[in-house]
Amino acid sequence: MTNLNELLERQNAVKSLFNDNKTLDTLRKHLHGVRDMERMLTRIVLGRALPRDYKGLADALLALPELSQVLGDRSGLFANMIVALHGLETLADTLSRSIVDMPPQAFRDGGIIREGFDAELDRLRALAKDANDWLRDYESRERERTGLANLRVKYNKVFGYFIEISKAQAKDAPVDYVRKQTLVNAERFITDELHSFESEILGAKDAAMQREEELIETLRQQLCQQATAIQLAARAVAGLDVLACFAYLARTHHYVQPEVHAGRAMKLVAGRHPVVERHLSNDTPFVANDTHMDLKSRRFMLLTGPNMGGKSTYMRQVAWIVWLAHTGCFVPAEEARIPLTKRIFTRVGAGDELASGRSTFMVEMMETATILNQLEPRSLVIIDEIGRGTSTWDGLAIAWSVAESLIKADDVLTLFATHYHELTELPDEHKPAFNASVTVREWNGSVIFMHQVIEDAADQSYGIAVAQLAGLPRDVIKRAREHLFHLEHGSELAAETGKTQLGLFAVAEKRQQEEELQGLRALRDRLAEVNVETMRPLDALMLLDKLTKEVTAT
Ligand code: ATP
Repeated sequence: MTNLNELLERQNAVKSLFNDNKTLDTLRKHLHGVRDMERMLTRIVLGRALPRDYKGLADALLALPELSQVLGDRSGLFANMIVALHGLETLADTLSRSIVDMPPQAFRDGGIIREGFDAELDRLRALAKDANDWLRDYESRERERTGLANLRVKYNKVFGYFIEISKAQAKDAPVDYVRKQTLVNAERFITDELHSFESEILGAKDAAMQREEELIETLRQQLCQQATAIQLAARAVAGLDVLACFAYLARTHHYVQPEVHAGRAMKLVAGRHPVVERHLSNDTPFVANDTHMDLKSRRFMLLTGPNMGGKSTYMRQVAWIVWLAHTGCFVPAEEARIPLTKRIFTRVGAGDELASGRSTFMVEMMETATILNQLEPRSLVIIDEIGRGTSTWDGLAIAWSVAESLIKADDVLTLFATHYHELTELPDEHKPAFNASVTVREWNGSVIFMHQVIEDAADQSYGIAVAQLAGLPRDVIKRAREHLFHLEHGSELAAETGKTQLGLFAVAEKRQQEEELQGLRALRDRLAEVNVETMRPLDALMLLDKLTKEVTAT
């Protein structure tokens, strides 16, 4: 929503439920049994419904007065909802009196209309049901009358009901038995009495089915006549569902009411990512972070920091919070002042669309182009890395110029994450840009991610440390460290040796070997000072532990 009044109205409705636990819980309980009313209604109106749609709608309509009662005389957004929840009581009553509690899957075999709802249907059903009793009774009567002990009354789909007598006894069949079929071992007969019973029974079953169809059609017509009212009620229920969900979310996960305002400053105190925070364990709780931006001096945040540091999470949490605030929902933060925002643009992750002829880099560039071409005042832009799928210089150049374009864009706030540390110079040239980074600590040779955003540029990416955590083979990691050393100290080494950069790898390797040798010599000297004979065993063990740690850390 981009209308402040509407937004505030919805926020107030959420707040009213948020502040009233009892109402919220009862409301959620009643909403629980209501299925998608509009969908069920559409299927019924189109004649494509299943029996359970009638039952579902009956339950939903029955819940409407209860929902209204829970809301009492609430005003604001609730007032129209309460009106829409009324007027369908008679229909709800008819439906719930007519549809059985557990309707069958399909209409085919009947059994949807409740017993006691329609006298004619009850009569026909009783007739069909009594058939078995009648048949049993008729069979024993005929056995007695004819004295044929193995006489049977049977049914099949082709011939309907018939009397079957074994071949040996068939000659004793009474004269009123009319032969219908001869089998190898038996003869089949029909009588007038059985024939008229058959017509009545089969007729009753069909008539019951037909009567049930008529009744359902009448119900369908009634629902169609009230379709508009049901739709309005459905919308009111959907609206209530959203409000109750927002209030519940705010209560359960400690969200606050954001202040969405017409100005351009954003202040989020202790913001959290609504999804990531729910997936972390108690041992590693989510680290909340602040965000302060405004158009004058802080419109462009350049976010650097280690891989796995939390850059993507942080930027997306800002986008989520801004988006949630525009739905009228409370937000995962301790305090939130959010500028009214018209559009949120994001470029995150990497993916290709090979079947449509687009490579990963092409997709990335097309997304970036879309953002730059569609920017409008009151936009929020999240860029999570660009220019990574091409050569370093090309990528850096593109990222740089895109960043400059976003800094200059009219009335746009941007969060821009990058591993190009060269870009941290941007704030020197452009006043509205500022640096931020996620912090990391090195301890005992390993990296600890603090996930804390600070206002300073990061000094390195710790990419190799993360690759090691991810399980890259030891020798690959070792080699990567060597390459990194060469790349980072290339010019110093070249100056030292006076050689061109091509020979640098050999020089750097030699230098590294020398460093290793020095380390070994130092170790030898320390060991030479140790007098094992005078040492306590505990001290010896502690020394051994210390030396092992030192050696493995290098
Ligand atoms: P890369 O540069 O490698 O893409 P990144 O800096 O974007 O990494 P994220 O992908 O945001 O890092 O975060 C990595 C993981 O760190 C997340 O999956 C999450 O588990 C954890 N994490 C991120 N932010 C936080 C936080 N604020 N609190 C706790 N854990 C976090």
